[in-house]
Amino acid sequence: MTASIIDGKARAAALRNSVAADVAGFVTRHGRAPGLTVVLVGDDPASAVYVRNKGRETLAAGMVSGEHRLPASVSQAELLALVVALNADDTVDGILVQLPLPVHIDADRVLATIDPAKDVDGFHPVNAGRLATGLDALVPCTPTGCLMLIEEALGNLGGKEALIIGRSNIVGKPMAALLLAKSATVTIAHSRTVDLAGHVARAQIVVAAVGIPHLVRGDWIRPGACVIDVGMNRIATADGKTRLTGDVDFDGALPRAGWITPVPGGVGPMTIACLLSNTLKAARARVA
Ligand code: NAP
Repeated sequence: MTASIIDGKARAAALRNSVAADVAGFVTRHGRAPGLTVVLVGDDPASAVYVRNKGRETLAAGMVSGEHRLPASVSQAELLALVVALNADDTVDGILVQLPLPVHIDADRVLATIDPAKDVDGFHPVNAGRLATGLDALVPCTPTGCLMLIEEALGNLGGKEALIIGRSNIVGKPMAALLLAKSATVTIAHSRTVDLAGHVARAQIVVAAVGIPHLVRGDWIRPGACVIDVGMNRIATADGKTRLTGDVDFDGALPRAGWITPVPGGVGPMTIACLLSNTLKAARARVA
């Protein structure tokens, strides 16, 4: 068997187009476009690239893009004051504070200060709790995108054996809640898990969200499994340059998996598309 390679770029483009069409309808009905404001603290180059891409895609979807760039030296009080001001700004439907934040800032406190109704990253404890208890919520973008790709590959997930590797609040835990809500049988592995290979061998769905290049070996994969690689690891190449690679040994998994996402071009593009979708959802809820 050779796996079908899941085209995250194409799927994300389709989602962005459908969000853009819905945004046009929102503008007609409400006389204004949904607004997403991103807060970037410091000058981390990777974060700057993410924020630029988010701004570009927000505008391309017909929404209003706001951006606040603060120096790495900003105080926690100043950052919290900005979040409070954005909470009160009626033109802002979605607020995203780009992570990571400088170490002198309590990221949990900042995230918990965002109005849950504008929390388009889905990291606020209220949204995490709503997701965990099966209530409607703003759900983190990366696992939302992963679920779309998995459902398109496998259809009904009821009873499927799913393994999530990684238990972060950003990916692993919300991914588990989403798959559980689809009635998959969910296992979460982490750094203390014994016999990761054995868990992978049983899984019909593998979501790898660790940050270790090629941790998951191709010969561990259960034949026919749907393999979703969230990992984004920059590794050195022989020519002295670097390239992005995932947590799964893609070449080794290709002959065994049924479906697999490439890195780049798999999960990554879905994340921003789901952010746009969350912003529209937040805007609709605010005018309802
Ligand atoms: P994280 O917060 O660092 O969490 C990593 C998880 O991996 C932890 O739960 C950790 O376990 C677990 N882990 C570490 N070593 C392990 C091992 N040997 N075996 C099994 N589990 C192990 O990372 P994250 O924020 O979830 O991100 C994970 C990866 O996804 C990173 O490469 C990140 O860049 C990427 N990412 C991509 C996107 C995208 O849009 N494509 C979005 C978000 C993240 P413990 O809890 O026990 O420490």
